[in-house]
Amino acid sequence: MNVKPTYAELEQEIAKLKETLHEQSRLENQCRKLVDSTSDSLYIVDGNGRYFFMNQIHAQRLNIPETGYTGLSYKDVHSPQQSEQFEARVKTVFETGIAIHDEYQHPEDGGYLLRTFSPVKDSTDPMKITAVSVVSRDITKIKKLEEALEKSEEKYRQLIEYSSEAIFIVTNGKISYANNSTQKMIGYPLEDLKLISFINLMISEDREMVFNRQKAILQGYESANHYTFRIETKEGSTIWVEADSVAIQWEGVTSTLNFMRDITKQKKTETRLLQAQKMESIGTLAGGIAHDFNNLLMGIQGHTSLSLLKLNKNDIHYEHLYEHIKTIETLVTSGANLTKQLLGFARGGKYEVKRADLNTLIEKTSKTIGRTKKEIRIHRNLEKDLWPTDVDQGQIEQVLLNLFVNAWQAMPDGGDLYIETKNILLDEDRFKAYGKRKGRYVKISVTDTGIGMDEKTKERIFEPFFTTKEMGHGTGLGLASVYGIIKNHNGFINVYSEKGKGTTFNIYLPASTPDDQKDEDRELDVAGDILCTETVLLVDDETMVLNVASDMMRTMGYTVITASDGSTAVNLYRENHQRIDLVMLDMVMPDMSGSDVFDEIKKINPQAKVLLSSGYSLNGQASRIMERGCDGFIQKPFTLDEISTLLRQILGQSRKK
Ligand code: ADP
Ligand code: MG
Repeated sequence: MNVKPTYAELEQEIAKLKETLHEQSRLENQCRKLVDSTSDSLYIVDGNGRYFFMNQIHAQRLNIPETGYTGLSYKDVHSPQQSEQFEARVKTVFETGIAIHDEYQHPEDGGYLLRTFSPVKDSTDPMKITAVSVVSRDITKIKKLEEALEKSEEKYRQLIEYSSEAIFIVTNGKISYANNSTQKMIGYPLEDLKLISFINLMISEDREMVFNRQKAILQGYESANHYTFRIETKEGSTIWVEADSVAIQWEGVTSTLNFMRDITKQKKTETRLLQAQKMESIGTLAGGIAHDFNNLLMGIQGHTSLSLLKLNKNDIHYEHLYEHIKTIETLVTSGANLTKQLLGFARGGKYEVKRADLNTLIEKTSKTIGRTKKEIRIHRNLEKDLWPTDVDQGQIEQVLLNLFVNAWQAMPDGGDLYIETKNILLDEDRFKAYGKRKGRYVKISVTDTGIGMDEKTKERIFEPFFTTKEMGHGTGLGLASVYGIIKNHNGFINVYSEKGKGTTFNIYLPASTPDDQKDEDRELDVAGDILCTETVLLVDDETMVLNVASDMMRTMGYTVITASDGSTAVNLYRENHQRIDLVMLDMVMPDMSGSDVFDEIKKINPQAKVLLSSGYSLNGQASRIMERGCDGFIQKPFTLDEISTLLRQILGQSRKK
């Protein structure tokens, strides 16, 4: 039975409904506030684009009153083109029921909008779509920032990609980014570089150092610092590089940013320069010692010669003594040969420079070696019309012999020795590194098939006393004197060798200038037992040399006046020049040098006869004095025979008694 509700019950019901309505309107109000408080546009349209709702901000954007959208469609307030696109989106959402996003540029103000179209579903039937809600956010600022960022990124990317320095990032020990130059320098493409551990690009000796550097940089101890190391490129060649590194954050990981330059060329020049400087200073040092040592030898030689002269060889009592002293003389000669090589290296020195055909010289010297070392096959390939050169034949012979002996020693089980000569026109660029002028050169190559050399050996072979041979087998002076002699002939030498693969030495000597003919050859006369009566002024700063040489000359019959320095010599000469027939002049003296004394003497008497003597072979300074009209040169230590021959040659045979 249907019971009618009482009035009170009805009142209660009404009050409840009112409350619900009130609550709903409160909620709606809150929603409304929320929707209006956002800066995004919010609106809802039906399938025809007619507005159901729009928030305050959107109404403002469309320039219509807050509730003025009733009855309005999207196309009423937008251009046909905009509408067409909008309707297509709405249609898709209706059809698929899936939300879509688009980025949309406003055709008028150029601003950017990010729009989300979502389906609004029926509250009772979720399959039914009743409307589409659109949230549209103004992203113009972000977009502009992005564009600016892209532009500046592009700028920096270009800076980095076109940089000639290798710029790369090492993350967790691997290269995570590398510019073009890195790839060019190392030879690997980035994909490959990413797989190789950075440290493994180095040659093994340098790995630890680079590893420690990178570690210190990552730990913040160090930053940009020039450090150099060697990298092995993909083609297998080793290059020198210099790097600066800093720690950076790269994709969230602490990494190193590295800038790297190829300094191989610079390193090579530096090494060559250092090598040249080293040779220069070793030369000075060796020269100094050799010079003093040579004077000692001169003393020993002189006293030996004198003793021999005074001993009667046939006297049975002195027979043994005579032999002993003879042996001393031989030993002094060997010692002198050593110092001669050293001095040859230190100051080089050309004397007896004559026009020579190197082919003839080579044939002669190589035949000597060929005769004694039968296990070596000698192959000569000599240029037919080899340009003549102005050389000291004795010295070049020594050069060749040193090279041949080394080659022979490098081939203990025999082998082939190739000797080649060639006329060569050198252009400036190729040999600039050697500091040589362009022009005509004669090239001599000596190649053996022997044991060869490793890099370390090759770097040091021209140093005096450097040898890899056992005690007694090498002096280490061979190549040092080769170097000195060739340098002094204004030539240069280089070497190609690999361990186990033989060795080639190339020597370049300047060819003679064709018009210059100084091919006269002076024959030396042997003096024999001549009694000499001339007066000699002997000038030397070494008392020992002075004593022994004057003894020697007195023994020959000469009257000797001595001077132990340049100015005394000049004074003595000024006072006695009428009776002095010859001045024997030491070249290297403190205070007034031999060269200055020479000039003073020639001023007093232009016809004065001067014999130059030096421990050094005839070097630049001596040869200049020779050119100024000096009558002869003798290298210390000299034997009685040598000096007597030379003196007679200068003074002439006419006055012998
Ligand atoms: P030495 O022959 O007395 O050792 P050198 O100055 O002549 O001194 O040579 C120096 C070093 O150079 C040698 O000890 C050797 O190691 C190396 N060398 C020179 N020539 C050759 C060669 N033809 N083959 C291999 N090594 C060589
Ligand atoms: Mg040698």
